[in-house]
Amino acid sequence: MTAHLVTNVGELVTWDADRPVMHDAAFVVEGGRISWFGHRRDAPAADTSSDVAGAAVIPGFVDSHTHLVFAGDRSAEFEARMTGEPYAAGGIRTTVAATRAAPDELLAATVARHLAEMRAQGTTTAEIKSGYGLTVLDEARSLAIARGFTDETTFLGAHVVPEGTDAAAYVELVTGPMLEACAPHARWIDVFCEDGAFGEDEARAVLEAGIAAGLLPRVHANQLRHGPGVQLAVELGAAAADHCTYLTDDDVEALAGSGTVAGLLPGVEFSTRQPYPDARRLIDAGVTVSLATDCNPGSSYTSSMPFCIAVAVRDMGMSPREALWSATRGGAASLRRDDVGHLSVGAKADYAVLNAPSYVHLAYRPGVPLVAAVV
Ligand SMILES: [Zn+2]
Repeated sequence: MTAHLVTNVGELVTWDADRPVMHDAAFVVEGGRISWFGHRRDAPAADTSSDVAGAAVIPGFVDSHTHLVFAGDRSAEFEARMTGEPYAAGGIRTTVAATRAAPDELLAATVARHLAEMRAQGTTTAEIKSGYGLTVLDEARSLAIARGFTDETTFLGAHVVPEGTDAAAYVELVTGPMLEACAPHARWIDVFCEDGAFGEDEARAVLEAGIAAGLLPRVHANQLRHGPGVQLAVELGAAAADHCTYLTDDDVEALAGSGTVAGLLPGVEFSTRQPYPDARRLIDAGVTVSLATDCNPGSSYTSSMPFCIAVAVRDMGMSPREALWSATRGGAASLRRDDVGHLSVGAKADYAVLNAPSYVHLAYRPGVPLVAAVV
């Protein structure tokens, strides 16, 4: 096996327990995994090497929440909202119509384009949800397309009740034939638990059916107002309760005592002019927090994890280090992955070289393309 040494790393973020952030560092990659890291002067001999000239190296971002299988454009809706109209979950239906009408090739090309955009900004692992098909056929093909790009695929047939369908009948479909067609292409089951989407009993039925079919649960919870989503996620042992914008003290306490990661998606609040979730409150309570883009054409059309980090630091009470952790290790925890989101020995060698001496620049220089290379 060939060993490749990356040296002259000005700042290396590994998230290793003993040496989470090192200066004047180096690391060795063998067989696609980190086999050694430490001070540059201690670096072992290797077959090949590269010198990053004092740049910072961070783990590739783990974007644990995206909706990349879609067609159509909703910039007019965004403009209307920025001109004073409130965000409502029903906007999803616009994308559903466009997605159903799109051929597979167009949907796949759209996913590929967005993943390339994300990778250029440092993302090396991405979750992708269905949820703009809302028929057995369209949900299954959305997931089959997503599976061509990532193992982290999520069945979100319960995104919204499609127009002209009775809610109870739709839940029957989602938990029956649609789940059966989608489960082979999915790792996760998800539900949008919110007024205007699915209530507590419906959400529970969807998640329990998914679990019975071998999928792991995650939940869209407490985005627009207080609600039962977070408690349900914790009760069912979900890997993630994403959004967490409106939380009671009981919600925070439940998350803190659980294995459920609170996924914060600041692009949504940015793009809908809603109040940001309070990351400080969650972290201080001992909750594991992830940051993700929620990249989708309606409520958060950003693919940039550095943007999310900058907003989280500026407006959600996170330190730059906490925000980077949540965008890497926190995202991995949300996807129950140990092999990504860090660069300690044994991790996949998924990393980003920054055009900066420190990861702090991700928040310090918002909007600047700082990712020089992604491996
Ligand atoms: Zn979402």
